[in-house]
Amino acid sequence: MSPPDRESFPSPRIGTAQTLNRMAEKRADKDWVKGRLNDAKTRFLLLVDLSLAVDSARDKSGTKLRWYTAEQIEALGVDLNDTFLLGCNENEDDVTIFAVSLSSAEAANVPGGAESLKPLVDLRSLAMQGDLSPEDLSLAGVARALAAWHAIAKCCGRCGGKTRSKDAGWRRRCWACGQEFYPRADPAVIVLITDGERCLLGHHKRYAHKFYSTLAGFVEPGEDIEACVRREMREETGVEIGDVTYLASQPWPFPHLLMVGCWAEALTTDLSLEEEELYDARWFTREEIRQMLTETHPEGFTVPGSHSIAYALIKSFVELE
Ligand SMILES: [Zn+2]
Repeated sequence: MSPPDRESFPSPRIGTAQTLNRMAEKRADKDWVKGRLNDAKTRFLLLVDLSLAVDSARDKSGTKLRWYTAEQIEALGVDLNDTFLLGCNENEDDVTIFAVSLSSAEAANVPGGAESLKPLVDLRSLAMQGDLSPEDLSLAGVARALAAWHAIAKCCGRCGGKTRSKDAGWRRRCWACGQEFYPRADPAVIVLITDGERCLLGHHKRYAHKFYSTLAGFVEPGEDIEACVRREMREETGVEIGDVTYLASQPWPFPHLLMVGCWAEALTTDLSLEEEELYDARWFTREEIRQMLTETHPEGFTVPGSHSIAYALIKSFVELE
């Protein structure tokens, strides 16, 4: 059977609604960055241990991203030079947006203590909760991915020296040997396997009870997308894959992945599971998937929510008849 049409592929809610101009050409322009850091219109997002500072009602409804001014950020004892640039919102009076990321130890030392920065909510929970727009979820995703990269890039992988943030947070440089590091996105494949009538979904040990999703795996050095799909799916399930078609991708800021969504045709259907990772995998009919999407499956099986490309892949399978 033919894969779904890329034009009609549903957009996941995290990562694909990018509205900012990232201003990549201005990141190394110190005068421009300084000017924007001190511009009264400029706003800052705050993350603590990769969770986002938000505002919400007492019953946790009406959640919105919390915006700080430069003055408020400095009042927390944060050097504005330690913030990173997300970009400019050209639709909204050219407002520049930066983010600042604190560890929980740093947050404990701000005036008023860590408690004054709450509520702090992880992006995955924000996506599930559904109050934030796709644009705000995508913006928060860029901030989370960049913050996660800075958190693991503090030391040089070559000589062990300390690295310092440059170019408004888009480069780090080792003070000792000069080695440079750039924020990266790690490619991973996420795959809808079908035998024409059914699709194969897996239940990982870390998943909630009765939750099934598309299978995924990291691209290894020296491998192309198609080879990765065939290797990972064979390793995890024992299924041999024929044609592989790229459908869409999604930046996935957990911590900083690029999910490459593929449609794969199964040549075999017998399963032999890699039990270390995968607790179960099974073939589901379209009717069953429809029930799982509406949470009406008689055995209580469920699938991922609309914030993920896994959902988009599963939905496109149901719609293709
Ligand atoms: Zn070094």
